[in-house]
Amino acid sequence: MNTPDLAKFSSDVQDFIAKNLTPDLAKAASLGFGISRADGERWHKAVYKQGWIAPDWPTEHGGTGWSLRQKQIYSNATALAGAPMIMPFGIDMVGPVLYSFGSNEQKAQHLPKILDGSVWWCQGYSEPGSGSDLASLKTAAVRDGDDYVVNGQKIWTTNAHKADWIFTLVRTDAEAKPQRGISFLLIDMQTPGVEVKPIVSIDGMHHLNQVFFSDVRVPAANLIGEENMGWTYAKFLLANERAGIANVAHSERLVKALLDISQAEQDGFGGTLADSSAFMAELATTEVQLQALKALEARVIASVEETGAPGDEASMLKIVGTQVQQTLESLRVEAVGNYSLPFDTDLIRGESNLPAPGPDYAVSAVSDMNFGRASSIYGGSNEIQRNVIAKAVLGL
Ligand SMILES: Cc1cc2nc3c(=O)[nH]c(=O)nc-3n(C[C@H](O)[C@H](O)[C@H](O)COP(=O)(O)OP(=O)(O)OC[C@H]3O[C@@H](n4cnc5c(N)ncnc54)[C@H](O)[C@@H]3O)c2cc1C
Repeated sequence: MNTPDLAKFSSDVQDFIAKNLTPDLAKAASLGFGISRADGERWHKAVYKQGWIAPDWPTEHGGTGWSLRQKQIYSNATALAGAPMIMPFGIDMVGPVLYSFGSNEQKAQHLPKILDGSVWWCQGYSEPGSGSDLASLKTAAVRDGDDYVVNGQKIWTTNAHKADWIFTLVRTDAEAKPQRGISFLLIDMQTPGVEVKPIVSIDGMHHLNQVFFSDVRVPAANLIGEENMGWTYAKFLLANERAGIANVAHSERLVKALLDISQAEQDGFGGTLADSSAFMAELATTEVQLQALKALEARVIASVEETGAPGDEASMLKIVGTQVQQTLESLRVEAVGNYSLPFDTDLIRGESNLPAPGPDYAVSAVSDMNFGRASSIYGGSNEIQRNVIAKAVLGL
């Protein structure tokens, strides 16, 4: 694609954002995973109608067929504008598993509803005691006629209270080696015996849940691929998940916001924070890391285009991407100082009748920084990613 086409593409993206990203939607977007389903769907459906919902999918399944550069232009533009995130559980996680390993019936049933955003998914991998050591999971699925009967518990299940379906890892062979006895099963959240209990996290919000399964009958037709081969599909999904967690475009937005904040906030010595060499040096160092990260991200996207999956670079991307995010969130708290202290979840959700005590950008600073600590844990902790790199990349 030549330069004029890219310029036209970029202006089409800007037009789309100007038309569809209303101020109330941009405000709701700042809640991240905490966005209401109605607001999340509003943005998802607008992007879907435009035909842009699944840039990384093959075109035969609804992908855009964009070049690497177009993908970057699109994700940068939407992130810089503060658009809501597209929930990753359908588009980035179970969708690629379905078109890569699912049956034709499963593809026909689920892919259109993932694309149009009418069905929301959540991820049932982790269990109490089986997080990093995921292969030790115990939730059991026992075949009974045309069904599996599922018993057990998942934990830290983001959005389970908003989701229609959950993709789970279940144990179908208790005798085999841990990785060999796992299957990948899709479960309708409305099935009798599925119970969701909330977990409120350190940001004061409810994104997380425990999900309990008590004698839940799941049609065997909901099994992805072969029984006991679930670990293969699970790892494929995790690589896609990790690549997304780096969230490079979001960090670019944070850098831009911090540059604006540094002009607005006092440094305590009669100048603004922009005059503080210590603050600006840390911001500049992080921005340099972010530029390097963008180059790594381009390699990961190229690998998806060539092989259908991100390579082991996804682990590197996740480690550095989450470190950059965490540094930027801490810098925001440092920049807004005392204004970050009041912790009012009504204000953060935009549901308070009282005005914020300080500038708008201070309201969620502490809450975002605290929840941001989780990014180096979910999707496989950064320590585990270092183990992956040691083994798969360095051959240690
Ligand atoms: C906000 C949030 C959202 C999440 N959403 C989901 C979700 O939607 N679905 C889902 O299935 N899961 C989800 N998770 C769970 C997440 O995947 C797990 O928390 C993660 O895999 C770590 O597992 P754990 O919490 O059991 O910690 P543990 O495995 O107990 O680890 C504790 C600590 O020990 C370290 N450690 C463990 N083993 C090793 C080792 N071999 N080498 C070096 N260090 C090690 C870890 O790095 C960590 O620091 C979420 C978690 C969070 C925090």
